[in-house]
Parts: sequence; C-alpha cells; structure tokens
Amino acid sequence: MINTIKKIWAPGVSGHPLRVRRQIALCNQVGLFGAAATIPYQLFYYCYDFAAYRHVFNANIFFMVIYLSVLLLNYHRWHNTASHVLLLNGCTQLFVVTLFVGNGAGVNLFYFTLAAVLIFLYQRLSIRVYAAVMTLFGTLYLVTHFLFTSADVPTPIPLPWRDVMYVGSVVGSLVLSGVVLYLFRQQIDHAEGELMLSNRYLETLSNTDPLTGLANRRALDAALEREWLRLARRQQALSVIMFDIDHFKPFNDRYGHDGGDRCLQQIARAAKGVVSRAPDLLVRYGGEEFAVVLPDTDEAGALQLAQRLCTTVETLNIPNESLGVGACITISVGVSSITYITPDAHHYGGAHLLKRADEALYQAKENGRNQVVYRAYGCPQSKGIERLNKAGTSFSNTGHAVPEPRNNSTPEL
Ligand code: GH3
Ligand code: MG
Ligand code: MG
Repeated sequence: MINTIKKIWAPGVSGHPLRVRRQIALCNQVGLFGAAATIPYQLFYYCYDFAAYRHVFNANIFFMVIYLSVLLLNYHRWHNTASHVLLLNGCTQLFVVTLFVGNGAGVNLFYFTLAAVLIFLYQRLSIRVYAAVMTLFGTLYLVTHFLFTSADVPTPIPLPWRDVMYVGSVVGSLVLSGVVLYLFRQQIDHAEGELMLSNRYLETLSNTDPLTGLANRRALDAALEREWLRLARRQQALSVIMFDIDHFKPFNDRYGHDGGDRCLQQIARAAKGVVSRAPDLLVRYGGEEFAVVLPDTDEAGALQLAQRLCTTVETLNIPNESLGVGACITISVGVSSITYITPDAHHYGGAHLLKRADEALYQAKENGRNQVVYRAYGCPQSKGIERLNKAGTSFSNTGHAVPEPRNNSTPEL
C-alpha cells in the first residue's frame, strides 16, 4: 500500500543522488497535497452556491492543474522550475482565494505549510534567498489577514461555514506540514542508516588486508594502543609475535607473483587456525610479514603459540624448490612480552613491544630461520634472547639450554 502511494510521487526521482531524490519527491508530494487539499473547498463552493463562488472555483481549477503540472515538470527533469512553479502557484492561490472569500476561512494559514517545506525543496538555498522568501510568506500572510477581512471581500463565506472552513484550514495546514515533514524525516533516517552501514563497511575495508582477509597494519596500531591502555589499567600480560616467511623472494621468482599470493593466503589461513582465541589479533603487517597481538598472554603462552605457528606452517609442506629439492616454506618468528608496566616502561608504549618482537624476528633470521626467538620488553640486546628449536626445547642465544618459560615472568626492564 505504502509502496503504491510512493509510486505516485516518484516521477523524475530515479537516477539522482539520494539528496536530490528526496527534494524531487518532496516537491511532488507538496504538489499532490496542494491539489488534494483544494478539493474540499471546491466541493463546498460547488454545492453551497456555485454561481456566487464560480470565480474562486474556476481559479482553483487552474491552481490544481498547475499543482499537478509540477509532477510533469519533475518527470521531464526540470526540478528547479518545478519547485519555483510550486511555490509561486501556492502563494498566488492562497492570495487569490483569500482575496475572494476573506481571512475567516483560514486559507492563508497554508502559507505556514509552504514556509515549513521551503528549505527542503532546493538543493542549495542561500541564506539570503531563504530569508527573503520567508519574509515574503510572512508579509503575504499578514497582508491577507489584515486586508482581506470578511467585511471587505467580494464573496465572504457565511457563518457557521466560515468557522468550519477555518477549522478545516487549521487541520489541513498542520496535517500537510506534519505528513510532509514526517515522510522527509523517514527518508533522512533511512539515508542515515545506509550511511552508517556504508561507514561500517568502509571502516572494515580500511582495516582489512585485501589479499588475505586478515586485519592490516592500521588495525594492528589501534589494537596495540588499546591493549597497552588495558595493560596499564589491569596489569595483565601482553605479548606480540612477528613472523616472516623465509626465502620468500626466491619462492616468488620461481612460482611467480600469483604463486606467492596463493602461498600468503595459505599461510594466513593456517595461522588463523592457530590464533583462534577471540581477543587475539592476527594481522598481515606488510609483504610477507605477519604479527599477532596476544592480550592477557605471558611469555610462556606466547612462546607456545609461536612454536605452533612455526610447526603449522612447516607441516603445510608448501614446496620451495628454489632452495633445493624437497625444501618447503618455513617461517621465522620473533616474540616479545610484558607482564606489567613499570613507570619507566610506560612511555615506550605498545609500539616498543612490536619493535622488540621485530628485533627477535631479525635474530631468528640471523640464527638460521625456521625458529622462534624471544626478546623481553625493554631489555638490552644481549639479554633475554631465547631460541627454540623445532622440537620446542629452549636454548639461550649462546646455545645453552635455558629453563622452560615461566608463567607471569617478571619483565626484564
Ligand atoms: P628472508 O628469509 O630473509 O625473509 O628473505 P625473503 O626473501 O623472504 O625476504 P625479502 O624481504 O628479500 O623478500 C620478500 C619478498 O616478498 C619480496 C616481495 O616480492 C615479496 N612480496 C611482498 N609482498 C608480496 C605480495 O603481496 N605478494 C607476493 N606474491 N609477493 C610479495
Ligand atoms: Mg621473508
Ligand atoms: Mg620480510
């Protein structure tokens, strides 16, 4: 039903941006309502005393035709002309009818309806023009109210019909403004909803890496900032893992860029399977580097996950024969953790944790790749480095075994 009604004011609406569509629909609505609102007055003139009121009756026929022609103008895409014609026709009708039947019928109250919709009718209405047209409406209302009193007009409406008509005019002008503004409001709400959805979509897009579907570096920066603040509040551990595909350049050279892309996607999928806890964030940091933010995870937990990433990628068995027959794709992993923030650690922030993980990753490459290296937050380079072999046994960077990582280890600042 509503959709059928909407079709009535659809002429000329399609193919325009939303804002313009709203204006054209509004123009059509006011044109239709202007014609419809004239009908009850016409019925009165016709039934009560057609001979006496024929001038105003005929004038109204003309005005109704002009109201409907607004839809035709919009249909032919003369939208500005349609809005001008609508306002001019409305102003003239209210003036002429009040001139004939007097202010007692309250027809000139419709000036307020026109004033209510005026600002929405045009795409860009300068404040000066807007003020000028509003002043004109006000003046016309006052002129018709004070000059066209029932005693001075040619065909006044007799009582009690004059009062009935006045009530009708009050109700009519309020209903017209109300309905038109309600419809307009509905369209604005709808547009706002669509805008919010598209904003959300764009936000997701701007935080997503298109190749792997993982979060991107922008999301990583935001997550690090957020998690650092949470760490400061709750003093729970925070860890960061960085990993990088080993010898990816020769892989790309051998299997082509498409092959490289497929490999990145495979590794991203596999890593997603490992990093499955809800608060953890896996991101493609750039190129063939990935990062993982692990809230509420201490050194031991992060090292365990890093090791799993390492073995998972290796067991994918993606051939990298650029390194020799039987060689497969592997990754090197750097890990860094912080358990609580001491005052001097505070100003470094989450970015420093990422930097530490990156240094550990570099160390893993230096040590021969396909392994995990740990570097504690804020420690000097020589301290806190720990390398895990494929079986997960820990070694110090000098090759000596070190105790298994402890839960809630004290940060080495
Ligand atoms: P290392 O073991 O030291 O990390 O060596 P590497 O060859 O992996 O590192 P390097 O930084 O020399 O090469 C990285 C390569 O990753 C070079 C670049 O062509 C490739 N790469 C980066 N981004 C993409 C991508 O989106 N798609 C593809 N196919 N290749 C990429
Ligand atoms: Mg690499
Ligand atoms: Mg790299």
